[in-house]
Amino acid sequence: MNAGKWFVMGVDLGSTTAKAAVVDQDGVLCGADVVQMGAVSPAAVARAIDGALNAAGVSRDRIRRTISTGYGRKLVPGADRSFTEITCHARGAAALRPGVRLVIDIGGQDSKAILVDDAGLVDRFAMNDRCASGTGRFFDVLARALEVEIDAVGELALSGSGDLEVSSMCATFAETEVISLLAQGLSKSDVAASVHRAVAARTLGLVAQVGKASPVVMTGGVAKNPAARHFVSRALDRPIELLEQPQIAGAYGAGLLARDEYLGQAAALVDRDAAADEQAAESASPGNRHCLDCNGVLDHTAARTTTAVPIELLRNKR
Ligand code: ADP
Repeated sequence: MNAGKWFVMGVDLGSTTAKAAVVDQDGVLCGADVVQMGAVSPAAVARAIDGALNAAGVSRDRIRRTISTGYGRKLVPGADRSFTEITCHARGAAALRPGVRLVIDIGGQDSKAILVDDAGLVDRFAMNDRCASGTGRFFDVLARALEVEIDAVGELALSGSGDLEVSSMCATFAETEVISLLAQGLSKSDVAASVHRAVAARTLGLVAQVGKASPVVMTGGVAKNPAARHFVSRALDRPIELLEQPQIAGAYGAGLLARDEYLGQAAALVDRDAAADEQAAESASPGNRHCLDCNGVLDHTAARTTTAVPIELLRNKR
C-alpha cells in the first residue's frame, strides 16, 4: 500500500522522553513512538526511531529527510536540521487540531503557551524553563510523594477537592510539603487536586502573557494527565480539546517541517524559528537560570517567564 511513496521523520528529544514520528508525502502521520529516558540519550533516540519506523511499516531507506526538535535537538544523530519545540508543537498541534489558536505545551521540564495564527504559525509565545513548578517534573515529584504511578495521579486528583492552599510551588520543596500535608491527615486525593489547581494557576499566568484564544489544546506528556487538563481548563475558563497523541505533537510537527523542507517550502520558517530560538535562549542563559522567585524561600507564588514578544517583531529587530 506504501509502494512508491516517500516519507520523512520528526524526532523530538526532550528532557525525559525521546519521540519519533514517521510522516508520509501527504503529511499523514503513519507511526510514532515514545521512549522514556533516564537522561538525554542517543540510545533512546535510536529506539524511538526504530519504534516509529516499525509502527509505520516503513524501512529507513525510504526516509527522505529528518528534522529534530526538543531540548536535546542538537544531539539527534542523522538529523538534517533542527527547529525549536515552539515551532514544532505549533505545527503539530495545528495539524492534529485544524484551526487551533492556543497551544499549551507542558513537558518534563518546561511549559509554554503558544499563540498560533490562522496558518498554524507561531504568533507569540511565553515559556517557563527556569523552574520546575508547572512542569511535568512537578507532577512526577507529586506522584512519587503520593506513592502512585504518574499515569494514575490525575485520576486521583479528580476524585479530590482542590481547596487546600499549597504554599510551596518549588519542586525542591514540594515533596516535603506533600508529605507534611499527608502527615496532618489530609487525603491523598485532596492534596493531589490542590497541587494540580496550583499548577494550573501558574499556567494561567503564562497564557496571560500571550493572551487567551480558542480553540485550545494541550500538548506534551502532561496533556495525558486528565486532572492537569481539567484544572487548566477551569483556570482558563475555556474548554481544552483532547488530542489523541499529545506527547508526539512536537515530533509530528518536526516531521511536517521535514516534508516542507523536502518540498522546498520551509525557507520562510527558518528565520521565524531562529527568532523564537533567540528569545528562548535568552530566558535560558546562565545568568537567568537560577530560581529568582523563591531563592530557597517556601512561599513561591509568581512564575518567572520570558516576556512574550510577537515573533514578527523579534525578526525585525535582528
Ligand atoms: P519532554 O519532551 O520534556 O521529555 P514530555 O512532553 O515527554 O517531556 O512530558 C513528560 C512529562 O509528561 C512527565 O514528566 C510526566 O509528568 C508527564 N506524563 C507522561 N506520561 C504521562 C501519563 N501517562 N499520565 C500523566 N502524565 C504523564
